[in-house]
Amino acid sequence: MQKSHPYIKNELLAEILKPKRIVFIVNPRAGTNLQRNIRSSVESQLDHKKFVYGIWHTESAGHAIELVQKAKDELYDIVVAVGGDGSVNEVASQLIHTDIALGIIPAGSGNGLAMHLGYGRDLDKAVRLLNSATVRRIDYGTLNGKPFFNLAGIGFDGLVSNMMKDSKSRGFIPYFFKSVEAGLSYTARHCRIETEDRLFEGKFFAIAIANGPMYGYNFQIAPDARLDDGLFSVVLLKDAPKWQYFAALPASLNGKIYDAEFVEHLKAKWVVITSPGKNYVHIDGEGLIIEDELRFEIKPGALNILAPAV
Ligand SMILES: [Mg+2]
Repeated sequence: MQKSHPYIKNELLAEILKPKRIVFIVNPRAGTNLQRNIRSSVESQLDHKKFVYGIWHTESAGHAIELVQKAKDELYDIVVAVGGDGSVNEVASQLIHTDIALGIIPAGSGNGLAMHLGYGRDLDKAVRLLNSATVRRIDYGTLNGKPFFNLAGIGFDGLVSNMMKDSKSRGFIPYFFKSVEAGLSYTARHCRIETEDRLFEGKFFAIAIANGPMYGYNFQIAPDARLDDGLFSVVLLKDAPKWQYFAALPASLNGKIYDAEFVEHLKAKWVVITSPGKNYVHIDGEGLIIEDELRFEIKPGALNILAPAV
């Protein structure tokens, strides 16, 4: 690690001017393959007066957890997840309740959190944005104790995530076709939804529990979601004729999904959902099947995230 700046006696100032230690944890299997050029991007775009860097590659699912521990042991200030929503979830889960900041270089198909923060899909640009990014303290959510950072869902979008798990192809087109297939086959299920001040019972096509507003591709399921308000945005898609869901797609791309007749939305600190049988669920795009009660809780201000300056 670099010592204090030799010309500056003031220790606080020296601390500020000391290069930050940043490590990139790269998922070599991420969807878009952008990550193949990460080393040359970091060499050419990162401000080397501000940062000293490391680049580490994960070798298997779960390896990121070990690598984040190594980053903690080696006193890194910033850990950047280079990958998709799954990689971001794995890395961020190890950084909650610490002072280490999370950066994201999107290299997956959705990357809703990174897109909302403004990292974009250009690798060089995303790396360059780290130079002027600032640290924000954000919330995260848990589902039955498991952390998520952008979105969790039950119903239709949970089915899509479960279908994508078995699919070899990644990216927008396969995702779109799986969504149509799931949209046609999924039927609204009876659910009981309880929050600190509301109770709903009825048939729902999907329920989104949102920390961030979008899935990626600018598809905004919860346009009013804020990462730091200590609340989930909860979006209920009620049972309706299928054509109404398809007809609402353009509105959801314009942040207007709440205008649709079948949508109900609210804010909540916690949500408990019970529904008989197997529930198709996703957290940050990872498909799960859960038969128990689903308990969502917001954890306010518990993650430092490096957000591009706007
Ligand atoms: Mg919020």
